[in-house]
Amino acid sequence: MSVKVKDVCRALEELAPLALQESYDNAGLLCGDAEMEVKSALLAIDVTEDVVDEAISKGCNMIISHHPLIFRGLKKITGKSYVERCVIKAIKNDMAIYSSHTNLDKAVGGVSFKMAEKLGLKDVGVLCAEPEALCQIVTFVPQDYAEKVANAMFAAGGGCVGGYDGCSYRVEGVGTFRAGEGCNPFVGELGEMHYEKETRIEMVVREADAEKVRQAAMSAHPYEEPVVDVYALLQKSKTSGLGVVGILEKPMSEIDALKLIKEKFKCADVRFSPLLGREVRKIALCGGSGAEFITLAMSKGADMYVTADCKYHEFFNAEGKILVADIGHFESEQFTKEIFKAYLSEKIPNFVTYYSEVNTNPINHL
Ligand SMILES: [Zn+2]
Repeated sequence: MSVKVKDVCRALEELAPLALQESYDNAGLLCGDAEMEVKSALLAIDVTEDVVDEAISKGCNMIISHHPLIFRGLKKITGKSYVERCVIKAIKNDMAIYSSHTNLDKAVGGVSFKMAEKLGLKDVGVLCAEPEALCQIVTFVPQDYAEKVANAMFAAGGGCVGGYDGCSYRVEGVGTFRAGEGCNPFVGELGEMHYEKETRIEMVVREADAEKVRQAAMSAHPYEEPVVDVYALLQKSKTSGLGVVGILEKPMSEIDALKLIKEKFKCADVRFSPLLGREVRKIALCGGSGAEFITLAMSKGADMYVTADCKYHEFFNAEGKILVADIGHFESEQFTKEIFKAYLSEKIPNFVTYYSEVNTNPINHL
Protein backbone atom coordinates (compact mmCIF):
# COMPACT_ATOMS: atom_id res chain seq x y z
CA MET A 1 0.00 0.00 0.00
CA SER A 2 1.43 3.35 -0.97
CA VAL A 3 1.89 5.97 1.75
CA LYS A 4 1.46 9.64 0.91
CA VAL A 5 2.94 12.64 2.67
CA LYS A 6 -0.55 13.53 3.91
CA ASP A 7 -0.95 10.07 5.51
CA VAL A 8 2.24 10.60 7.53
CA CYS A 9 1.15 14.13 8.49
CA ARG A 10 -2.26 12.84 9.59
CA ALA A 11 -0.73 10.10 11.72
CA LEU A 12 1.67 12.52 13.42
CA GLU A 13 -1.13 14.99 14.05
CA GLU A 14 -3.16 12.34 15.85
CA LEU A 15 -0.35 12.25 18.38
CA ALA A 16 0.36 15.99 18.35
CA PRO A 17 -2.49 18.04 16.82
CA LEU A 18 -1.26 21.25 15.20
CA ALA A 19 -3.83 23.15 17.23
CA LEU A 20 -1.65 22.53 20.31
CA GLN A 21 1.30 24.51 18.96
CA GLU A 22 2.29 27.90 20.40
CA SER A 23 1.19 31.00 18.48
CA TYR A 24 4.80 31.81 17.46
CA ASP A 25 5.47 28.31 16.16
CA ASN A 26 5.46 26.97 12.60
CA ALA A 27 4.87 23.22 12.96
CA GLY A 28 3.31 21.13 10.18
CA LEU A 29 4.21 20.38 6.58
CA LEU A 30 6.80 23.03 5.67
CA CYS A 31 7.88 21.89 2.27
CA GLY A 32 6.65 19.41 -0.33
CA ASP A 33 3.47 18.09 -1.88
CA ALA A 34 0.97 16.45 0.49
CA GLU A 35 -0.14 14.10 -2.30
CA MET A 36 3.38 12.82 -3.01
CA GLU A 37 4.11 9.16 -2.28
CA VAL A 38 6.66 8.67 0.50
CA LYS A 39 9.31 5.99 0.06
CA SER A 40 10.79 6.37 3.52
CA ALA A 41 11.38 9.13 6.07
CA LEU A 42 14.42 10.37 7.93
CA LEU A 43 13.82 11.32 11.58
CA ALA A 44 15.84 14.22 12.95
CA ILE A 45 15.83 16.89 15.67
CA ASP A 46 16.97 19.68 13.33
CA VAL A 47 17.09 20.06 9.56
CA THR A 48 20.51 21.13 8.30
CA GLU A 49 22.11 20.76 4.88
CA ASP A 50 23.89 17.63 6.14
CA VAL A 51 20.54 16.16 7.18
CA VAL A 52 19.00 16.86 3.75
CA ASP A 53 22.06 15.21 2.13
CA GLU A 54 21.71 12.25 4.48
CA ALA A 55 18.03 11.86 3.54
CA ILE A 56 18.96 11.87 -0.15
CA SER A 57 21.74 9.30 0.37
CA LYS A 58 19.42 7.04 2.39
CA GLY A 59 16.78 7.18 -0.36
CA CYS A 60 14.25 9.05 1.82
CA ASN A 61 11.97 11.67 0.29
CA MET A 62 10.62 12.98 3.58
CA ILE A 63 12.30 14.44 6.66
CA ILE A 64 10.43 14.58 9.95
CA SER A 65 12.06 16.93 12.44
CA HIS A 66 11.31 18.35 15.85
CA HIS A 67 12.52 21.90 15.17
CA PRO A 68 10.90 23.56 12.14
CA LEU A 69 13.40 24.41 9.41
CA ILE A 70 11.33 27.46 8.44
CA PHE A 71 10.44 29.34 11.59
CA ARG A 72 10.10 32.95 10.48
CA GLY A 73 8.96 34.13 7.06
CA LEU A 74 11.45 33.76 4.23
CA LYS A 75 11.40 36.84 2.00
CA LYS A 76 14.11 35.69 -0.41
CA ILE A 77 15.32 32.20 -1.25
CA THR A 78 18.72 32.84 -2.76
CA GLY A 79 20.84 30.45 -0.70
CA LYS A 80 22.42 33.05 1.60
CA SER A 81 21.49 31.20 4.80
CA TYR A 82 21.47 27.51 5.67
CA VAL A 83 17.67 27.64 5.89
CA GLU A 84 17.38 28.95 2.33
CA ARG A 85 19.92 26.41 1.07
CA CYS A 86 18.03 23.55 2.75
CA VAL A 87 14.74 24.69 1.21
CA ILE A 88 16.33 24.91 -2.25
CA LYS A 89 17.93 21.48 -1.89
CA ALA A 90 14.73 19.93 -0.56
CA ILE A 91 12.62 21.30 -3.42
CA LYS A 92 15.18 20.30 -6.07
CA ASN A 93 15.14 16.77 -4.68
CA ASP A 94 11.37 16.42 -4.16
CA MET A 95 11.92 16.18 -0.42
CA ALA A 96 8.99 16.82 1.92
CA ILE A 97 9.81 18.37 5.30
CA TYR A 98 7.47 18.08 8.27
CA SER A 99 7.99 19.34 11.81
CA SER A 100 6.25 18.53 15.05
CA HIS A 101 7.46 21.14 17.51
CA THR A 102 5.64 22.82 20.41
CA ASN A 103 2.60 20.67 19.61
CA LEU A 104 4.74 17.62 20.38
CA ASP A 105 6.16 19.37 23.46
CA LYS A 106 2.61 19.64 24.78
CA ALA A 107 1.15 16.33 23.62
CA VAL A 108 0.62 13.50 26.07
CA GLY A 109 3.39 11.06 25.20
CA GLY A 110 5.49 13.92 23.77
CA VAL A 111 9.01 15.26 24.36
CA SER A 112 9.00 15.57 28.16
CA PHE A 113 7.16 12.23 28.60
CA LYS A 114 9.99 10.62 26.64
CA MET A 115 12.53 12.25 28.98
CA ALA A 116 10.62 10.85 31.97
CA GLU A 117 10.65 7.41 30.39
CA LYS A 118 14.43 7.60 29.98
CA LEU A 119 14.77 8.33 33.71
CA GLY A 120 12.34 5.56 34.60
CA LEU A 121 9.94 7.95 36.36
CA LYS A 122 6.52 6.69 37.42
CA ASP A 123 3.17 8.44 38.00
CA VAL A 124 4.05 10.92 35.26
CA GLY A 125 1.65 13.83 34.72
CA VAL A 126 1.76 17.16 32.92
CA LEU A 127 3.62 20.02 34.67
CA CYS A 128 1.91 23.04 33.10
CA ALA A 129 -1.50 21.73 32.01
CA GLU A 130 -3.21 23.85 29.41
CA PRO A 131 -6.95 24.13 28.95
CA GLU A 132 -8.01 22.42 25.74
CA ALA A 133 -11.40 22.90 24.05
CA LEU A 134 -13.80 19.94 24.23
CA CYS A 135 -16.88 18.91 22.27
CA GLN A 136 -19.70 16.44 22.80
CA ILE A 137 -20.52 14.38 19.76
CA VAL A 138 -23.92 12.71 19.40
CA THR A 139 -25.38 10.31 16.87
CA PHE A 140 -28.46 8.09 16.52
CA VAL A 141 -27.90 4.58 15.15
CA PRO A 142 -30.09 1.50 14.50
CA GLN A 143 -29.58 -0.57 17.64
CA ASP A 144 -27.73 -3.42 15.94
CA TYR A 145 -25.15 -0.96 14.60
CA ALA A 146 -24.48 0.92 17.84
CA GLU A 147 -21.36 -1.08 18.70
CA LYS A 148 -19.83 -0.70 15.26
CA VAL A 149 -20.38 3.07 15.10
CA ALA A 150 -19.22 3.65 18.69
CA ASN A 151 -16.05 1.62 18.08
CA ALA A 152 -15.25 3.65 14.97
CA MET A 153 -15.67 6.85 17.00
CA PHE A 154 -13.42 5.52 19.79
CA ALA A 155 -10.77 4.51 17.25
CA ALA A 156 -10.77 8.07 15.87
CA GLY A 157 -10.07 9.51 19.33
CA GLY A 158 -13.55 10.00 20.83
CA GLY A 159 -14.50 9.01 24.37
CA CYS A 160 -11.20 9.62 26.20
CA VAL A 161 -11.53 10.99 29.75
CA GLY A 162 -8.28 11.19 31.76
CA GLY A 163 -6.78 7.70 31.81
CA TYR A 164 -10.02 6.12 30.52
CA ASP A 165 -10.95 5.40 26.96
CA GLY A 166 -14.13 3.94 25.47
CA CYS A 167 -16.28 6.41 27.46
CA SER A 168 -19.76 6.85 25.99
CA TYR A 169 -23.36 7.15 27.08
CA ARG A 170 -26.08 5.25 25.25
CA VAL A 171 -29.82 5.32 25.52
CA GLU A 172 -32.42 3.54 23.42
CA GLY A 173 -35.28 5.34 21.73
CA VAL A 174 -37.15 5.73 18.49
CA GLY A 175 -35.99 7.71 15.48
CA THR A 176 -38.43 8.79 12.76
CA PHE A 177 -37.94 9.74 9.12
CA ARG A 178 -39.66 9.77 5.75
CA ALA A 179 -37.55 9.19 2.66
CA GLY A 180 -38.30 11.52 -0.24
CA GLU A 181 -38.10 11.07 -4.00
CA GLY A 182 -34.65 9.87 -5.12
CA CYS A 183 -33.59 8.63 -1.68
CA ASN A 184 -32.20 5.20 -1.04
CA PRO A 185 -33.16 4.53 2.60
CA PHE A 186 -31.35 1.85 4.58
CA VAL A 187 -34.71 0.91 6.15
CA GLY A 188 -38.31 1.99 5.44
CA GLU A 189 -40.25 2.74 2.29
CA LEU A 190 -40.12 5.83 0.07
CA GLY A 191 -42.74 8.39 1.03
CA GLU A 192 -43.80 6.59 4.23
CA MET A 193 -43.10 7.63 7.76
CA HIS A 194 -40.69 5.14 9.35
CA TYR A 195 -40.15 4.45 13.04
CA GLU A 196 -36.79 2.85 13.83
CA LYS A 197 -35.46 1.60 17.18
CA GLU A 198 -32.23 3.52 17.57
CA THR A 199 -29.47 3.99 20.10
CA ARG A 200 -28.36 7.50 20.93
CA ILE A 201 -24.59 7.44 21.39
CA GLU A 202 -22.74 10.37 22.87
CA MET A 203 -19.17 10.91 23.88
CA VAL A 204 -16.70 13.66 24.65
CA VAL A 205 -13.95 14.53 22.17
CA ARG A 206 -11.13 17.07 22.01
CA GLU A 207 -12.11 19.86 19.65
CA ALA A 208 -8.95 19.07 17.65
CA ASP A 209 -10.30 15.55 17.00
CA ALA A 210 -13.99 16.42 16.60
CA GLU A 211 -14.09 16.49 12.80
CA LYS A 212 -12.15 13.22 12.57
CA VAL A 213 -14.55 11.51 15.01
CA ARG A 214 -17.56 12.96 13.19
CA GLN A 215 -16.24 11.59 9.89
CA ALA A 216 -15.60 8.19 11.51
CA ALA A 217 -19.22 8.11 12.77
CA MET A 218 -20.54 9.11 9.33
CA SER A 219 -18.51 6.38 7.59
CA ALA A 220 -19.49 3.61 10.00
CA HIS A 221 -23.16 4.65 10.11
CA PRO A 222 -25.49 2.58 7.88
CA TYR A 223 -27.89 5.43 7.03
CA GLU A 224 -27.80 7.38 3.77
CA GLU A 225 -27.96 10.68 5.69
CA PRO A 226 -26.60 10.05 9.18
CA VAL A 227 -27.18 12.71 11.81
CA VAL A 228 -23.99 13.38 13.78
CA ASP A 229 -24.15 16.48 15.98
CA VAL A 230 -21.16 18.21 17.54
CA TYR A 231 -21.70 20.54 20.51
CA ALA A 232 -19.06 22.87 21.97
CA LEU A 233 -18.60 22.32 25.72
CA LEU A 234 -17.85 25.10 28.19
CA GLN A 235 -15.48 23.04 30.34
CA LYS A 236 -11.92 22.41 29.17
CA SER A 237 -9.71 19.36 29.46
CA LYS A 238 -6.30 19.70 31.08
CA THR A 239 -4.51 16.61 29.87
CA SER A 240 -1.85 18.22 27.68
CA GLY A 241 0.71 20.94 28.29
CA LEU A 242 4.40 21.67 28.67
CA GLY A 243 6.67 19.64 30.96
CA VAL A 244 5.97 16.68 33.20
CA VAL A 245 6.37 15.68 36.85
CA GLY A 246 7.08 12.15 37.97
CA ILE A 247 8.50 10.07 40.79
CA LEU A 248 11.83 8.23 40.85
CA GLU A 249 11.54 4.51 41.50
CA LYS A 250 13.98 4.95 44.40
CA PRO A 251 14.87 8.27 46.04
CA MET A 252 18.54 9.17 45.65
CA SER A 253 21.01 11.84 46.70
CA GLU A 254 21.18 15.02 44.65
CA ILE A 255 24.62 14.13 43.32
CA ASP A 256 23.42 10.67 42.25
CA ALA A 257 20.38 12.25 40.55
CA LEU A 258 22.65 14.69 38.69
CA LYS A 259 24.93 11.82 37.66
CA LEU A 260 21.89 9.85 36.48
CA ILE A 261 20.65 12.63 34.20
CA LYS A 262 24.19 13.30 32.94
CA GLU A 263 24.49 9.64 31.95
CA LYS A 264 20.97 9.17 30.54
CA PHE A 265 21.04 12.35 28.46
CA LYS A 266 24.71 11.91 27.46
CA CYS A 267 25.62 15.41 28.62
CA ALA A 268 29.14 16.84 28.35
CA ASP A 269 28.25 18.81 31.48
CA VAL A 270 25.26 19.62 33.62
CA ARG A 271 24.84 23.13 35.08
CA PHE A 272 22.94 23.18 38.36
CA SER A 273 21.79 25.48 41.16
CA PRO A 274 23.07 25.09 44.76
CA LEU A 275 22.47 21.68 46.33
CA LEU A 276 19.83 21.54 49.07
CA GLY A 277 21.22 18.57 50.98
CA ARG A 278 18.12 16.40 50.67
CA GLU A 279 17.07 13.38 48.68
CA VAL A 280 15.55 13.64 45.22
CA ARG A 281 12.28 11.77 44.78
CA LYS A 282 10.01 13.92 42.65
CA ILE A 283 11.43 15.26 39.40
CA ALA A 284 9.96 17.82 37.01
CA LEU A 285 11.23 17.87 33.43
CA CYS A 286 10.73 20.13 30.46
CA GLY A 287 12.46 19.49 27.15
CA GLY A 288 13.96 22.58 25.48
CA SER A 289 13.88 26.06 27.02
CA GLY A 290 11.82 25.59 30.18
CA ALA A 291 13.35 28.04 32.67
CA GLU A 292 10.00 29.80 32.99
CA PHE A 293 8.60 26.80 34.90
CA ILE A 294 11.12 26.72 37.78
CA THR A 295 8.61 28.23 40.22
CA LEU A 296 5.80 25.99 38.97
CA ALA A 297 8.00 22.90 39.40
CA MET A 298 8.69 24.06 42.96
CA SER A 299 4.98 24.55 43.68
CA LYS A 300 4.32 21.00 42.45
CA GLY A 301 6.68 19.73 45.14
CA ALA A 302 9.46 18.66 42.77
CA ASP A 303 12.86 18.18 44.41
CA MET A 304 14.61 18.68 41.09
CA TYR A 305 13.77 20.41 37.82
CA VAL A 306 15.54 19.33 34.66
CA THR A 307 15.38 21.58 31.61
CA ALA A 308 17.64 23.60 29.27
CA ASP A 309 18.66 27.12 28.28
CA CYS A 310 18.58 28.54 31.82
CA LYS A 311 20.18 31.98 32.08
CA TYR A 312 22.40 33.12 34.97
CA HIS A 313 19.63 35.02 36.75
CA GLU A 314 17.14 32.21 36.29
CA PHE A 315 19.23 29.90 38.47
CA PHE A 316 18.51 32.31 41.36
CA ASN A 317 14.82 31.44 41.01
CA ALA A 318 15.61 28.09 42.61
CA GLU A 319 15.52 30.06 45.90
CA GLY A 320 17.16 27.22 47.83
CA LYS A 321 13.92 25.24 47.43
CA ILE A 322 14.53 23.16 44.33
CA LEU A 323 17.56 21.81 42.49
CA VAL A 324 17.55 23.19 38.94
CA ALA A 325 19.60 21.27 36.39
CA ASP A 326 20.31 22.53 32.87
CA ILE A 327 21.25 19.62 30.63
CA GLY A 328 21.38 21.43 27.26
CA HIS A 329 18.69 21.97 24.66
CA PHE A 330 19.71 19.29 22.18
CA GLU A 331 20.43 16.81 24.97
CA SER A 332 16.95 17.25 26.43
CA GLU A 333 15.21 16.66 23.09
CA GLN A 334 17.48 14.09 21.47
CA PHE A 335 15.11 11.16 22.08
CA THR A 336 12.21 12.85 20.31
CA LYS A 337 13.13 10.85 17.18
CA GLU A 338 12.12 7.72 19.08
CA ILE A 339 8.61 9.14 19.55
CA PHE A 340 8.25 9.61 15.79
CA LYS A 341 9.51 6.11 15.04
CA ALA A 342 7.36 4.31 17.59
CA TYR A 343 4.21 6.20 16.66
CA LEU A 344 4.60 5.88 12.90
CA SER A 345 5.46 2.17 13.05
CA GLU A 346 2.25 1.60 15.01
CA LYS A 347 0.02 3.82 12.85
CA ILE A 348 1.49 2.97 9.44
CA PRO A 349 2.90 -0.59 9.65
CA ASN A 350 5.67 -1.37 7.13
CA PHE A 351 6.44 2.32 6.65
CA VAL A 352 10.23 2.65 6.76
CA THR A 353 11.87 5.33 8.91
CA TYR A 354 15.56 5.93 9.67
CA TYR A 355 17.19 7.85 12.49
CA SER A 356 19.41 10.66 11.28
CA GLU A 357 23.00 9.98 12.25
CA VAL A 358 24.04 13.60 11.85
CA ASN A 359 24.80 15.31 15.16
CA THR A 360 23.03 18.62 14.64
CA ASN A 361 23.77 19.96 18.13
CA PRO A 362 25.32 23.36 17.34
CA ILE A 363 26.84 23.66 20.84
CA ASN A 364 30.20 22.14 21.75
CA HIS A 365 32.00 21.87 25.07
CA LEU A 366 35.72 22.15 25.73
ZN1 LIG B 1 13.77 22.56 21.10
